[in-house]
Order: sequence, then structure tokens, then C-alpha cells
Amino acid sequence: MLISRAVPPRPDRRIAGTMAVFSGLALLPDLDYLGVMMGLVDSGPCGHRGATHSLIVPLLVASLAAAISPRFNLPRWRTAVLCGLAVASHAFLDAMTVGSRGVPLLWPLTFARFEMPWRPIPNAPCGLHYLSAQGLRVATIELFQFFPVLLLALWPRNRPTPTATSRPPESRIRTVGSRPMTHPAA
Ligand SMILES: [Zn+2]
Repeated sequence: MLISRAVPPRPDRRIAGTMAVFSGLALLPDLDYLGVMMGLVDSGPCGHRGATHSLIVPLLVASLAAAISPRFNLPRWRTAVLCGLAVASHAFLDAMTVGSRGVPLLWPLTFARFEMPWRPIPNAPCGLHYLSAQGLRVATIELFQFFPVLLLALWPRNRPTPTATSRPPESRIRTVGSRPMTHPAA
């Protein structure tokens, strides 16, 4: 979502839509889990955290973005780089999860799995297993870990400039005098 903030804003383009597209791109590598759910062996290039977590995927996505971005009136190379970064961020964040199997960043050159030396992110349960107490625990921890990033991503782009607003006299009277002005008839 934060990367989507670098897409040039346009009056006819909603930032929420741009954020949704980039969030989808960031989740793209985990589509490999669908293959695992359908019976593919969960190891090697076709397994979870296999080929889709290689840097070849962001390169392909960036190439596609460069090809189609002019149709959407988007700057070609800037959009390509941002889309590639969004997809690549997934693999690098997976490489920062504790207790994970690592990610084959350089596949198909090598299937060596890479891990970051600093791995503070808890490993989330996959698929429907995410809807569990463990999944909720991981989501809570990640919310705290990524809160600054989330805050930056959601910070209003065009904050309204303060205007000299003056409340009408009636509202002032109501604020100051909160007690009812009428008295019950004796
Ligand atoms: Zn992943």
C-alpha cells in the first residue's frame, strides 16, 4: 500500500483502488498455495514459497506493467518499477519470517533458499489455517510491527487546508450553556 503512494495521483483515479491493486500485487506470490491445496507437492519450484517467490516474478510483472501502463495513462517506467517492487517486497518479507523455509530468490538459476539475517516477523499459517487463534496472534503482531508503514500508507494525501471557520453564534451558545434554558412550570 505504501508503494502505491508513489503512483502519480489523478482526479479520475481513486487512491483506494490503486492501493487495492498494489496490495494484490504484493500478495501475488502466495498464489502458489492454491497449487498446494490442489495437490501439488509442497516442495521444489511448484511448492509454497517456491518459484513464485523468485525475483523472476517481479521482473515479469514489471515488464507487463511497462507494456500496459500507457493504456491507463500511467508513466511507463515508474509504474513498472513500482509494480515490480510491490511483488518483490513479498519475497523479501517472507525471507524475514522466523522459522520459515526461506525463499528461492534466484530461481531458475539456483533453488537455494535465502533468509535474511534478521527475521523478526512471525511465520503465518497458510491458507484457511490463517483463520485460527495462531493466525489471529500473528496478524496482531504484524499489525504492531507494520503500524508505522500502515500509518504512512493511509495518511491523507491532500489534507484539507485549515480555513477560518467560525461557528454560528447559535452553536456557541449551545456549547457554553449546556443546561436547559427552560424551567419547568411550578
Ligand atoms: Zn509468501
